[in-house]
Amino acid sequence: MIESEAIVVGGGPAGSTCAWKLNLNGICTIVLDKKRFPRLKVCAGWITPKVVRDLRLNIEEYPYSFLTFDRLNFHIFGKRFSVRTRQHSIRRYEFDQWLLKRANVPVKEHAVKDIRKEAGYYIIDDTFRCKYLVGAGGANCPVYRTFFRKAAPRNKKRLITAIEEEFRYDYQDANCYLWFFDRKLLGYSWYLPKGNGYLNVGIGGRFFAIKNRGETIRGHWNYFIKKLDALSLVKNHSFSPRGYNYYLRQTAKTDQKDNSFIIGDAAGLATLDMGEGIGPAVESGILCANAITSGRLYSLKSVTRYSYSFFNIIFPWWK
Ligand SMILES: Cc1cc2nc3c(=O)[nH]c(=O)nc-3n(C[C@H](O)[C@H](O)[C@H](O)COP(=O)(O)OP(=O)(O)OC[C@H]3O[C@@H](n4cnc5c(N)ncnc54)[C@H](O)[C@@H]3O)c2cc1C
Repeated sequence: MIESEAIVVGGGPAGSTCAWKLNLNGICTIVLDKKRFPRLKVCAGWITPKVVRDLRLNIEEYPYSFLTFDRLNFHIFGKRFSVRTRQHSIRRYEFDQWLLKRANVPVKEHAVKDIRKEAGYYIIDDTFRCKYLVGAGGANCPVYRTFFRKAAPRNKKRLITAIEEEFRYDYQDANCYLWFFDRKLLGYSWYLPKGNGYLNVGIGGRFFAIKNRGETIRGHWNYFIKKLDALSLVKNHSFSPRGYNYYLRQTAKTDQKDNSFIIGDAAGLATLDMGEGIGPAVESGILCANAITSGRLYSLKSVTRYSYSFFNIIFPWWK
């Protein structure tokens, strides 16, 4: 049996941030992830200045692809306007590996299947034992499934389906573009340049709103890539996108049960307007580590709900 005071299941931004903080706070921690890092993660890879601050990330020293945008170009119901802001793009393939390495804790390649609680300890697949268990395994996290699903069922209306592709591309336009509600999609598509000659394009929206109209996200994607071609943003590329479903911010009642916790996508925390989950993953990872260290109650109340508050003012029905 491998013993550790804390075990974090999942080494994405939620898990690696939590492990980083736990380790800094002197709690012996290991991370289990079913994938070997660096691993592909379906994500646009857009991060906010708050993420940079929360992670104490020194941009000058970050060794991988990193771009900063001072403006975002929105298209909403066909109307174009640009907003002065500061946002960044990273590549998840590099970023997640860098964060996990920085956490400076042992990482084991292991797909968690079975978890049980015995005499106050959590036993994972009869192989690992810990006092504190953190579920950071994304939307299908086994810790959520085992201890939280019944008490905190997810609101299916907040399920997002999204597909994207990141590829090397000699892009001529280095701006970031976002198209909302194209063909009545309850969601948006994006064109997001990355450093070192990469580009990420993708589209996402509310799963059931799309399904109930007899549509698929693939259908919207096919329209979108024709549009990229027509706008000369991406020409002559043979696409093979990948998809993932995850949840927008839930009104969860239970994020801690005894000494088990859920953070990031496992807790369903992506922002209600833009579906950004990296920031909330990082914030919840820090809150969880602090709760474990201090013994105080873990609460997700302070985690960012909206990427853009003006969005909620313009579209108050967007809940
Ligand atoms: C197409 C798309 C685009 C997106 N774009 C953005 C964006 O631009 N900006 C943004 O902020 N958010 C974006 N998001 C959301 C963001 O990707 C997630 O919210 C974020 O990755 C959540 O981080 P996490 O650490 O909770 O989970 P994840 O990053 O999903 O990490 C979970 C980890 O758990 C591991 N795991 C899963 N099951 C097991 C198991 N049984 N045993 C062991 N390990 C396991 C996985 O291998 C994985 O490494 C996007 C999502 C999608 C689908």
